[in-house]
Amino acid sequence: MRTISDWGNYPVIEADVAGFDSVGQLRKQLEDPGELIAFGNGRSYGDASLQKRMVLTRRFSKFLSFDESSGTLCCDSGVLLSEILDVFVPRGWFLPVTPGTKLITVGGAIAADVHGKNHHVDGSFGQHILSMDIMRNDGSIITCSPTVNAEFFKVTVGGMGLTGVILNASFRLKRIETAFIREETVRAANLGEIMDCFEVSVGWTYSVAWIDCLAKGDSMGRSIMMRGEHAQTHELVSPTHKHAPLKVNKGMQLAVPFRFPNFALNPLSMKAFNFAYYNKCRPGTHQHLVDYNSFFYPLDAISNWNRIYGKRGFTQYQFVIPKEAGREGMARILKRITDSGLGSFLAVLKLFGEQDSFMSFPMEGYTLALDFPISQKAMELFKELDAMVADYGGRLYLAKDSRMDAAMFEKTYANADEFRQAVTLLNEGETRFASLQSKRIGITN
Ligand SMILES: Cc1cc2nc3c(=O)[nH]c(=O)nc-3n(C[C@H](O)[C@H](O)[C@H](O)COP(=O)(O)OP(=O)(O)OC[C@H]3O[C@@H](n4cnc5c(N)ncnc54)[C@H](O)[C@@H]3O)c2cc1C
Repeated sequence: MRTISDWGNYPVIEADVAGFDSVGQLRKQLEDPGELIAFGNGRSYGDASLQKRMVLTRRFSKFLSFDESSGTLCCDSGVLLSEILDVFVPRGWFLPVTPGTKLITVGGAIAADVHGKNHHVDGSFGQHILSMDIMRNDGSIITCSPTVNAEFFKVTVGGMGLTGVILNASFRLKRIETAFIREETVRAANLGEIMDCFEVSVGWTYSVAWIDCLAKGDSMGRSIMMRGEHAQTHELVSPTHKHAPLKVNKGMQLAVPFRFPNFALNPLSMKAFNFAYYNKCRPGTHQHLVDYNSFFYPLDAISNWNRIYGKRGFTQYQFVIPKEAGREGMARILKRITDSGLGSFLAVLKLFGEQDSFMSFPMEGYTLALDFPISQKAMELFKELDAMVADYGGRLYLAKDSRMDAAMFEKTYANADEFRQAVTLLNEGETRFASLQSKRIGITN
């Protein structure tokens, strides 16, 4: 038995956990009856990879093949995105889609069908999967792709580990000339300005905005947009970079050594942080050349940053609402959040492009993600926000969720019922793959 949690440290549970090094070992584990769920690197925030019995995939992490002409990589599901970057950036390749942390496994990226700053251009991670092998509840292995066993593929991408254990996957990396990003930052004085900025930034491959969710009145929604493109060799200026365009320094790794006491994060400290961050960026538009780690993964530079929320843990409330509802909807929801004064410093706004997947989170529209320390007041606020999100035709991201109820899931995920039936069918009636989340939101019993 081990004490374990996902990234938000809420909930924390006691579980039977076991890793595996080979397909045979995993099959042996599946011979024992009872429910279980795959656990990648625990970077989902809530309870999506938690259950009283868990199979840890991290040890199952070999690179299987790479085709230099097409950039097609095949690797085990326990490989971290950071391990792919370490090997392939120096050879001139980058991930087709990456979330805001590189410390997730390939299996976790497929199961949550993660999105990045380029969703409006390149879609989600699952859209780049050419083929994958999955171990089913009876120990058999099924190979699937968008054309082979396509139904199985469809329910596994974004299926949160409920169809089986993804063993390996093939996907195409994209060519880069340098390890640097030509970044442009734009300061926006309020929500209207930042939304205008997103509308005119659709030609950029990457775009995202940090939003101050404590600013009120005319300043509500004041933010900083970061948009970027992979830099080409001729854009590098420093002789060191020109000499080794695909090399980046590891940089300093900071760490939060212990859990902060609960009082350390209070409205005053958060307001001060947000004020300083916003004013760090001068008004107007500015260009910089930054390495890919600074652009995509600023938080990964601080190990265990989740400890600043203390023992009570935290959750991330991430929702998306359709583009048509965007301006009015986002203003109403943000006002409710700023009025509550409960949100913390990390609020991220992004405009998604179109997506037509079975269970994936993105839809064409605006998504906002912000962290909240766990409290009774926050839980009450979420209920109100849920109602607004559902009214606007939006939904919540399962990878960040630890508290949504079954009714909200049912109302907001159009394929909820079909997905439940598919999971039941795949498990041949007896629930095998189930998480605390899948039980809470009523996908499994
Ligand atoms: C700082 C930070 C930033 C983030 N930014 C983003 C972002 O920008 N965009 C985004 O989309 N997400 C983002 N996330 C969320 C994260 O990308 C997802 O939660 C991802 O699924 C975590 O992968 P993991 O390997 O840690 O898997 P876990 O968290 O361990 O598991 C996640 C889900 O995948 C399933 N799973 C894992 N491995 C397998 C497998 N081999 N077979 C079957 N199912 C499996 C689990 O059962 C679970 O349902 C962020 C998270 C953090 C901490």
